Amino acid sequence: MIPLVKTYLPPSDVLMPLLQDVLYSGYIAQGEQVEQFERSFENFIDSGYSLSLNSGTAALHIALILAGVKAGKEVISTALTAEPTNVAIKMVGAKIRYADIDIETGSISPESIMNKINSNTAAIIVVDYAGIPVDVPRIKEISEKYSIPVIHDAAHSIGSKFNGKKVGSFFPYTVFSLQAIKHITTVDGGVLQIQDHEEYERAKLIRWFGLDKKLDRLSNNITSQGFKYHMNNINATIGQIQLNYIDDVIEKFVSNGKYYDQNLINIPGLKVLNYYKGSEPSYWLYTIKVERRDDFIRKLKEEGIAASELHKRSDWHSFLNDFNEELPNLDVFYKEMVHIPCGWWVTQENREVISNVIKSGW
Ligand SMILES: *Cc1c(COP(=O)(O)O)cnc(C)c1O
Repeated sequence: MIPLVKTYLPPSDVLMPLLQDVLYSGYIAQGEQVEQFERSFENFIDSGYSLSLNSGTAALHIALILAGVKAGKEVISTALTAEPTNVAIKMVGAKIRYADIDIETGSISPESIMNKINSNTAAIIVVDYAGIPVDVPRIKEISEKYSIPVIHDAAHSIGSKFNGKKVGSFFPYTVFSLQAIKHITTVDGGVLQIQDHEEYERAKLIRWFGLDKKLDRLSNNITSQGFKYHMNNINATIGQIQLNYIDDVIEKFVSNGKYYDQNLINIPGLKVLNYYKGSEPSYWLYTIKVERRDDFIRKLKEEGIAASELHKRSDWHSFLNDFNEELPNLDVFYKEMVHIPCGWWVTQENREVISNVIKSGW
């Protein structure tokens, strides 16, 4: 079966000697390797400061704290995402106010965001679902007009670009996940990309119990709530090596995605997604809309190809459904959406077979 997601790791003859050195170095907690990984990640993104963490969820949590979201406030978000996006909002005691999606792209609709803003709105979370950048210029405009900070959940979209710039540079906080099945993994981990240096320094305290690592333990004075969210030298070593492969790995996702963009057109009962002008997706998933989805999934399965909707929409979890909003575009989109294999493991031959199977009908 050609899977929908698969872990990428560097060749073992490259990874293992370096990993072994660090494992037995006597220092496996947060140290030199973490520092190096952060500086390398900053180079890759080319904007802002990288805060390495033990998960993307931790990055979301810290972003919400930095954005000043407090209990009782509201965060505008999308229901078309993985659960962590919206579970994190509940971690700070805030309520989730869902905006609808643009039906052509699956991304949060700027129009709908504007309709959901009220005096209680403390932040907006936007998600590059499947690796497709959101409508960056319009969301920036809204953020500035209403002075509401935007948290960019780019867990699916590392390496994506908008107007030639990489995701990670558009909003004050960008969340990356390095969990097992994302483009690139550190086994588990995440990065919060922060544009402001003072906020970056504050985030370091939140990452580690509220303690300042630059001071010795006895000179420290905890003044606010912190957590234990740091990355360790083992995960950072894997990350550092992954960064040598990241461009090639992402290029494979992109090449497959572009192939489908060109080959899955004019097929009865199938629609490909649109992208906002100026966006270059990194295609973590390849999402299409199909009629008779169950038949489609069955047909592909018979041919050894995984296909599914993958995510349950967040508002269908009762804990994540604060206002029971109507989301008519999402209703239509979610009924038809399905993902097909697109990642680094999908060969040129695989993608041809997948396209041909789809073209033969279901
Ligand atoms: C994977 C993911 C996260 C969280 O990542 P973890 O590293 O697993 O905590 C957040 N948002 C989205 C959309 C994701 O897919």
